[in-house]
Amino acid sequence: MTPLQAVRKFCLSCVENSGEVENCTADGSGGFEVCVFHPYRFGKNPENGPALKLSTFRKFCLWCMGGDRDLVEVCNEKGCFIHPYRLGHNPARKGLGRKGGGPENWFQKKPVSS
Ligand code: SF4
Ligand code: SF4
Repeated sequence: MTPLQAVRKFCLSCVENSGEVENCTADGSGGFEVCVFHPYRFGKNPENGPALKLSTFRKFCLWCMGGDRDLVEVCNEKGCFIHPYRLGHNPARKGLGRKGGGPENWFQKKPVSS
């Protein structure tokens, strides 16, 4: 599940249905607390806003655990859709680096056709 898909699923689990996700007022407009997932609640990056960062998950999880980093780390709620991203990185990309994979891929050349 991609990070954006995880946010979408999380939002759907947060409220009753997709209509409530759409109408979620946790953007500060209704005087309620601002939810860091609000701009991403449709599972897409907003057209005129920043793309979802993995650090957003970290922020949310810290909020969930009352600011206690250790509790976020040991959180065992595997059923929580954002659990894989709670530490602010993507475990599926572990060892891949930012671009082109890890060191083992840096000097790979395309096979030469004969
Ligand atoms: S944006 Fe936040 S408050 Fe709103 S549905 Fe998603 S998780 Fe819940
Ligand atoms: S992964 Fe754990 S810390 Fe993060 S929101 Fe879910 S239950 Fe809370």
